Amino acid sequence: MGQGVSGTLFSWFCEQHNLDFIVIDNVPANSPSKTAAGLINPVTGRRVVTVWMDDIIIPFAENTYRQIGTKLGIEAISKMDIVDFFPNPFMKESFLKKMSQQAPYISLSKDEHYWNEHFNYEFGTGIIEPAYIVHLQQLLPAWRQYLITHNKFINQVFDFNKLVVSDYGVQYENIEADAVIFCDGVEGNANPYFSLLPFALNKGEAIIIEAPALPGGHIYKKSMTLVPFGEPGIFWAGTNYIWDFDDDLPTDAFRKYTEQNLSNWLKVPFKITDHKAAVRPATVERRPFVGMHPVYRNAGILNGMGTKGCSLAPYFAWQLVQHLVLQTPIEKEADVARHTRILSRTQP
Ligand SMILES: Cc1cc2nc3c(=O)[nH]c(=O)nc-3n(C[C@H](O)[C@H](O)[C@H](O)COP(=O)(O)OP(=O)(O)OC[C@H]3O[C@@H](n4cnc5c(N)ncnc54)[C@H](O)[C@@H]3O)c2cc1C
Repeated sequence: MGQGVSGTLFSWFCEQHNLDFIVIDNVPANSPSKTAAGLINPVTGRRVVTVWMDDIIIPFAENTYRQIGTKLGIEAISKMDIVDFFPNPFMKESFLKKMSQQAPYISLSKDEHYWNEHFNYEFGTGIIEPAYIVHLQQLLPAWRQYLITHNKFINQVFDFNKLVVSDYGVQYENIEADAVIFCDGVEGNANPYFSLLPFALNKGEAIIIEAPALPGGHIYKKSMTLVPFGEPGIFWAGTNYIWDFDDDLPTDAFRKYTEQNLSNWLKVPFKITDHKAAVRPATVERRPFVGMHPVYRNAGILNGMGTKGCSLAPYFAWQLVQHLVLQTPIEKEADVARHTRILSRTQP
């Protein structure tokens, strides 16, 4: 259940393994997968630390999105560099220190002044590469259309009252199956089978701008990130992390802050065309939830992607399908079995 990036990748690998399946999703106007920039960044944070399992997860993701793109006749992923504008001398120093330790993915720009025509900046730029953009705005509807054409999609709110999970399989209305896999993102926090897991939901926002004079083909980063978004001249600008929130709506504060920031940073004209917000299905340990329920063994989960659904979902969707078909183990840190004690208290 669910067709965000997790459900898309999970159903893709079901199809690759010739499994019989059906996807149920209520196609909301707003979800994190519809709000995300789609960025895969190999490093993270102020100290430009290489991300978890980068050498396995990132090449796997690139390869998978390219295969899906070929099948659907779309460009599902693009490779780009990130131009990292140092906001102050300390950040530059930290970047240089990391470079001196032979850290992968990072280098210094050859020409410090290259971006003077487009941006205001004082402390030079670094380069992070390769990075990727997953074109979720094209990929998700194209995959949904493919599923609809092959009678594998139901547009509906999944009703847990109609689900029976037994030791022999699952029944949902007139559908009988071996298993149900929940890829329900932030709603997983209220899912009667998995709500006890330590989710740590947080809200994020983005502004969409039109800036026709800004070159595409690069991602730009200073105190925010600017990502080419779908069409030429359109950029996604974000984001923030709000831990205490009452709703998933855009806030005036973010819009004002971002507009001000962009006005200071960009030398080229821009116009705001949209403002989005959604809640990320993040987890306390910053690791996904992947695998089958320890008590209700035919109910499984692929969730907890946090800020990194685009890079994590392909590999862990594949691992989960492999686990279902061949009983191969799931990566320990991601395996939901680490929460067996908590999940044993489940009362759906
Ligand atoms: C502002 C912002 C920026 C982000 N930027 C990036 C980025 O650049 N790169 C990156 O990798 N990640 C990014 N993320 C995080 C990324 O969006 C998430 O990791 C990812 O979208 C999670 O995908 P998912 O499929 O697990 O969940 P979701 O996207 O939440 O999908 C779950 C799906 O299940 C459906 N569903 C749930 N319950 C039911 C039900 N009862 N019945 C029917 N359907 C149901 C929902 O409608 C939805 O379609 C960003 C998030 C935000 C908020």
